[in-house]
Amino acid sequence: MRPLHARYPFFTAARTAVESADVAVATLIAEDAPAVKRGAERVERALMEGKVEAAEPYSWDTQEELLSYPISRILVSLVETPAAVDKYARSEADTAYERMVADFEAAESENDDSRASLDDVLTEFGLSDAVRADDAPRGRAPEYYWVDVGPYLTFSTPDWGDEWRLVNRALAGGSVRIRREELYELLREAVRRRVLEGLPFAVRGSEAGDQLAEALAPHVERLGNLLSERGAINIVRTESVEPERFPPCMQALLDDVADGAELPNEAMFSLAAFLVGVGLSPEEIAGVVGDDHADALQSRATILVDSGGSQYAPPTCETMQAYDLCVDRDDHCDTIAHPMTYYQTAMHEAAASDD
Ligand code: SF4
Repeated sequence: MRPLHARYPFFTAARTAVESADVAVATLIAEDAPAVKRGAERVERALMEGKVEAAEPYSWDTQEELLSYPISRILVSLVETPAAVDKYARSEADTAYERMVADFEAAESENDDSRASLDDVLTEFGLSDAVRADDAPRGRAPEYYWVDVGPYLTFSTPDWGDEWRLVNRALAGGSVRIRREELYELLREAVRRRVLEGLPFAVRGSEAGDQLAEALAPHVERLGNLLSERGAINIVRTESVEPERFPPCMQALLDDVADGAELPNEAMFSLAAFLVGVGLSPEEIAGVVGDDHADALQSRATILVDSGGSQYAPPTCETMQAYDLCVDRDDHCDTIAHPMTYYQTAMHEAAASDD
């Protein structure tokens, strides 16, 4: 195991190092080894502080740091809160982003094999041939790069602002010109997606999985309690709430609730977080789904409002897809990455057509 793997545990080589390690993750969990404590810290800091860097980095060796990553993925899957998965992936990506920028800027001058070069990261994400440096004065790092349109569109989203739209970009020979800092943003997004791949996964359901879940229960309970106690939710209040402009996934969940269906926990939290996110109070939720079926939703919404946790922000489309809750997609879905953006766009378009 190399220090580089501990800094970038989502690299393919890091995963291989974990798989070929002398010690199995299941054994570490059964023994509540230091890597488990670091894994729990990793998730806690991700959810509470938006980064996964250890509070005391020198307390953990390379192996503990690297093995904490697969353990943190198990933990965040067991927390069973969709937004926790989103937040965790974002935090891993933000920490990796800081490390990448530091490494890229230092790689030329410091011969340290714990650092990744830009070429290393581009290769990791299969982007070596898709990204080319623009001409730069001799001895200076390039300020601009050309990125093939395909990867550019894959790793950027319209939510990032007008400057990311292709119509506002220099294009030549199927490539887009971007600043160096923007290339780093694309790589941050590539990391976020890599971390999100396969999350959340079902831990329970087999004898071995149930044992893991049982051994991790104290950590999961503590993380759950933290989520309920701290944070602040981003409520996007609009003057009125118009359910007919909700995205299809939320419409479908509302229909299920109105039909009296028992939704799984993650579906209930996703819907409740969305309704709170658009500005409904727990009491107002009954007005949307009807008094007869509002209880379960209202209790979740009350938790969200009381906890005020941004950790419970409505899940992204990616997370909805992971939970098989992205249904009945329509054309608008191709232009957004978040159900909240879908709704806000629909409200803006309705307001514009009324003017
Ligand atoms: S793409 Fe997003 S907004 Fe559209 S249905 Fe799927 S999760 Fe909902």
